[in-house]
Amino acid sequence: MNKNRIREIINRLEEYSGGKSGSQKKANLLDLLIATKLSQNTTDKTSYIAFRNLKNKFRNWETAMSAPLPKIKSEIRVCGLADKKSVEIRNMLRDMKKKYGKLSLEHLRGYDDDKVYDELLQYKGIGKKTISCLLAFGLNRNVFPVDTHVHRILNRLGIVDTKSPDDTFDNAKALIPDEVKISFHTNLIKFGRSVCKAPKPLCGECVIYDLCSFKDKKYYREFNSGKVKRNDFIILENS
Ligand code: SF4
Repeated sequence: MNKNRIREIINRLEEYSGGKSGSQKKANLLDLLIATKLSQNTTDKTSYIAFRNLKNKFRNWETAMSAPLPKIKSEIRVCGLADKKSVEIRNMLRDMKKKYGKLSLEHLRGYDDDKVYDELLQYKGIGKKTISCLLAFGLNRNVFPVDTHVHRILNRLGIVDTKSPDDTFDNAKALIPDEVKISFHTNLIKFGRSVCKAPKPLCGECVIYDLCSFKDKKYYREFNSGKVKRNDFIILENS
């Protein structure tokens, strides 16, 4: 897809979302990393509750690190995958303590992007998406985090042709202008939740319909308008 078309998509989604996202408040980087870790494979609402539970239950991350695993698990159960997330968070805190002698990631502010990736990829359960969120929202860097919404929409639009969010991340970073990377990411997520949903996208209400390469967009537009009945649609979908 050419640059002008991508720019038009960015502009229309910005207008649709009510403008560019504002700059972030300075966040505690370890808090942000743990909050992002909790948000994997769940909704903002449940991950926020899990994060608040941890902050309310434990005086600080040192206390959480030393707590019995079942206590951590029960505080984050609401956000799903609690067995896995509790072990990975506790192990990550222990490793950080061993490595830095304290539980803080503030030293990352002096690192370039590549060094931040190298530093954090060593922790199990921390991947490129989580690190790019930390870079974007904690360090105000021009990175373009890719979650399942962003991956799905960029593929439907034809901006990339990839199989996984990590591949989309690698392909998209050179295509999205630096100054809009964070706001485009945020606008795509809002758009993915409200219009370009995973099942049954609302193509009939889409402000970038004419710019989209999704092969089923016409069917979904007719489905949204009620012209295609549910059973007809299933046949079309499988054809
Ligand atoms: S036309 Fe449909 S598939 Fe394409 S971006 Fe819009 S909602 Fe998504």
